[in-house]
Amino acid sequence: MKKLFSLFLVLCVFLSGCTKTQNDSLSNTQTEQSGTSSDNLLEEYLANPNILETPIREYGESTAFIQLDEDLGVRIAYPETELDALNQAIETWITDTVSYFEYESADAIDMEDSAELTVDYDSFLTGNIVSVKFSGLYDKPYLAHPIDIIATFHADLSTGKLLSLDNILTSGGREVLQNMVIKDAQLEVEVVNEYLLDLWTLTSDGLEIILERGDYLPMSAGTVTLSYSYDELKDILLLPVENESEVSETEELTETELTENTENNLTVTTIDPDKPMIALTFDDGPSKHTAHLLDIFATYGGKGTFFVVGNLIDNRVDTVKRMADEGHEVAGHSWSHRQLTKLTPSELTDQIMTTRAKIYEVTGVDSTVIRPPYGAFNSDVKEVCANLGIVMVNWSLDTLDWKNKNADMVYNAIMEDVKDGAIILCHDLHSTTVDAMERVIPDLIEQGYQLVTVSELLSYSDEEVCAGNVYNKR
Ligand code: ZN
Repeated sequence: MKKLFSLFLVLCVFLSGCTKTQNDSLSNTQTEQSGTSSDNLLEEYLANPNILETPIREYGESTAFIQLDEDLGVRIAYPETELDALNQAIETWITDTVSYFEYESADAIDMEDSAELTVDYDSFLTGNIVSVKFSGLYDKPYLAHPIDIIATFHADLSTGKLLSLDNILTSGGREVLQNMVIKDAQLEVEVVNEYLLDLWTLTSDGLEIILERGDYLPMSAGTVTLSYSYDELKDILLLPVENESEVSETEELTETELTENTENNLTVTTIDPDKPMIALTFDDGPSKHTAHLLDIFATYGGKGTFFVVGNLIDNRVDTVKRMADEGHEVAGHSWSHRQLTKLTPSELTDQIMTTRAKIYEVTGVDSTVIRPPYGAFNSDVKEVCANLGIVMVNWSLDTLDWKNKNADMVYNAIMEDVKDGAIILCHDLHSTTVDAMERVIPDLIEQGYQLVTVSELLSYSDEEVCAGNVYNKR
């Protein structure tokens, strides 16, 4: 194992100025010139991008259920909506899904890698009909391939009630649609059952029927989506659906506080290397609570680091831009919160580089720091990061804010264990975490801590910072 690691270090491409390695005998092995790789890599990528998809979010406020468990890392993005019945149905589904896969993951214990449950969603508002489509995967060591996860939920915005497919079809409509699906997917009649049309979404383009991998077609066919236009369905669809979806009012954040905040910003002094410093870090945002967190920093001073999920940036461009404008560090947390240890080198590169390109597009800053989702990495991840000029940063102090969702507990976790050089893990997904910061930030400053970004913190580290390495404190 050690030998493998040494071999990997030889292969490393180091960040500019990175001369020390953890193994002294290797200190002369670097071949790359200073300042080469990283900038050019972003340019190359921007010239020929393999941009990953941004989810469609026409309705609801995006948030996520997360769990950083040793055996099972979970991130299920979901919408918070104004419809209680829909929220309830989604909540129940998430709870059931997580407990089922917790059970499935029991044997992941003692394996070298944990299981992953990662689910994202699209939401559509078509006329009065809300459709939410979850899609994601479950993966664990030694599984032949990940298990697809698909679920759909529907509600009527005007009544607040959940909808089934039959609610939008004429009385004979189901049978007609079923025959269309059998014909188009070339299904054997004997595999067809009453659940055939269970997974559906209504979008501005029409109706989609989803056949989950292995349910009606061979596993090798994957998950199959059949799309039908409103025109094709005009005889069986009950709705007078207009072909334009009304995109819901998404944003967020008035720019009015910005001037105020920038003024406050100017009061921040430079870093004194002889005084204690720590990095507060926030994963999995931006969320609807992030702007409030930025307000708190603006009021009391100090900087934070935001490890953002790439595919959330487009929804909250103003917030992300504001982070950078106000001196915080914006860094990547992968595009769709995938556990990097489960990806091929090219998937891994896309997860990292698409996020890096999006951060650059919005903030003008090329961020070469990431936090791997679930903190998970292995030698393959390190090697890809080394080649991309990327430094990984984990944490030394875990607030467990995703678990306790309690402002006092977050506050105590930090104040009891904080020390010079700490990197503190929080999530700006939760209002409780942001509430805790109302006290944490001024109290830490009061105790003499300088609240710096992770890059600032590491620049005052005794250890040299090298691409491909993982750091969790100064
Ligand atoms: Zn995360």
